Amino acid sequence: MRKFSLAGIALALAICLGGTAASAAPKKAAKAPPAAPEPVVARPRLIVTISIDQFSADLFAEYRGHFSGGLKRLGEGAVFPSGYQSHAATETCPGHSTILTGSRPSRTGIIANNWIDPDAVRTDKRIYCAEDETVEGSSSDNYTQSPVHLKVPTLGDRLKKASPRSKVVSVSGKDRAAIMMAGHLPDEIWWWNGKREFISYKGKAAPPAVIAANEAIDGVLTAGLPAPTLSPFCASRINPVEVKPIVGMGDPDAPPKIVGKAPGAIDPGNAAGFTASSNLDSATLDIATRLLTDMALGQDDDPDVLIVGLSATDYVGHTYGTEGPEMCSQLMAIDARLGTFFAAIDALKIPYAVVLTADHGGHDLPERNRLRALGEADRASVSLTPSVLDQKVTEALNLEGFYITGDGSPFGDYYIARGLPKAQHDAILAKAREILLQSPQVEAVLSAEEISTAPKPASPPNEWTLLQRAAASYDKAHSGDFYVILKSYITPIPDGSGRYTATHGSIWDYDRRVPMLFWWPGATGFEQPNAVETVDIMPTLASLIGLDVPAGEIDGHCLDLVAGAGSNCR
Ligand code: ZN
Repeated sequence: MRKFSLAGIALALAICLGGTAASAAPKKAAKAPPAAPEPVVARPRLIVTISIDQFSADLFAEYRGHFSGGLKRLGEGAVFPSGYQSHAATETCPGHSTILTGSRPSRTGIIANNWIDPDAVRTDKRIYCAEDETVEGSSSDNYTQSPVHLKVPTLGDRLKKASPRSKVVSVSGKDRAAIMMAGHLPDEIWWWNGKREFISYKGKAAPPAVIAANEAIDGVLTAGLPAPTLSPFCASRINPVEVKPIVGMGDPDAPPKIVGKAPGAIDPGNAAGFTASSNLDSATLDIATRLLTDMALGQDDDPDVLIVGLSATDYVGHTYGTEGPEMCSQLMAIDARLGTFFAAIDALKIPYAVVLTADHGGHDLPERNRLRALGEADRASVSLTPSVLDQKVTEALNLEGFYITGDGSPFGDYYIARGLPKAQHDAILAKAREILLQSPQVEAVLSAEEISTAPKPASPPNEWTLLQRAAASYDKAHSGDFYVILKSYITPIPDGSGRYTATHGSIWDYDRRVPMLFWWPGATGFEQPNAVETVDIMPTLASLIGLDVPAGEIDGHCLDLVAGAGSNCR
């Protein structure tokens, strides 16, 4: 944020007072200069940032007219329906890394949920985005959580540096969401461990808010939960679809998985069922609400930041797809629960501002997409995975050993073994590209060299080329040697009959577009349809609390939150 300069104020005064020779000609009654506009948002003492994991712009548009609680309230503030997680790898960790840093993954260093680091000192070369792999015993499956890979400060980090008494609190259903939005200096940070409780970094004592929530969850998991009541609106979406194992994958004797049913009861002890239900979000908001009062957030002149990661929508999307009664029930539950959350903040009578967005979008499972005029929708062939590609390439080039690795998925970053002679490296890349492009499911294969030399985008994110999107996900130390892009609506889960049927992560706009909703008491309603980026959120929030962020340090820009005269951006 730029401060007003004295020269600028003098120039503004000269213009207001008509202090030029030309303005002396027509004599009119002197008018009082217009009063300085009121600040558009009373300077908040609490910034509430909420991310709903996998809440696509498409879902917001589809359900917007049906919200009656917290999401309705936010829809009446400053609405950016076409926000972009502008980068290629639309996964949870990179997406959350953009929201409060103002920077794209190419700058945050968080290019994916997992990457391969051949130089890692441990034998497991797969690195989780929110771990410190140098800690003894940390592995990509059983990792030690850390923000060490986040290369830039968050809003909270910057705020605490400027005003050390400001507090930063982060609670989420996922560790990577809590960590990437909180940054390096949170006062409290808690995430659901997927099993039984909310936990934090090692050695952190649980405050009463977390103890109470964990006790309540324990009771719920012990007793099980009844099926949620489905409204007639959500019941109208019941449309069962079978997902069968595909040839050569999954258990052919297992009964087909059926999605599109009314959500059922959660059996005692079923932690995965709890995780893929609105109960997880409700517990997350229970902790946030109690910490708000226990820590007296927003109660003094040093602004505080409360971060909430609502993760259940992502698990619902992965498990059941996005267009059935399960997602409808989930979004209606979030809407209602956010309504009570905001009412609890209202009761504190503190000036606050809220932003809500998502880490990425998403879309439906291919079996249902095919029924809805997306005839090309399909599951990616297992032959596109790094391990199968490696076999084909080494066979074609008469090589012994393993040369191509990746995270296991049939798209995204692929890595060629380090230390090869350049001619051999190039031959492997060329053969891999040739084989991949023979598949009708592959849109493009981009080399690291092509990505790293892509021209910087000068247009809004909806107009970026594939190379520019990939460049926003590129980090020399962590990215692969080539990046595989599937055609749109090809789901990179070859066998959907397991736990997950649908996913996100692609370079296409259904995975890039997310809503960006700002609200504060007194917000008058404003909608800006142009394509903007989630990296614009941080500088916009910084403008509201008067925090100086040098423009060269981030990728985003402050967004005007009002339609008329006046601006929060200076
Ligand atoms: Zn996510």
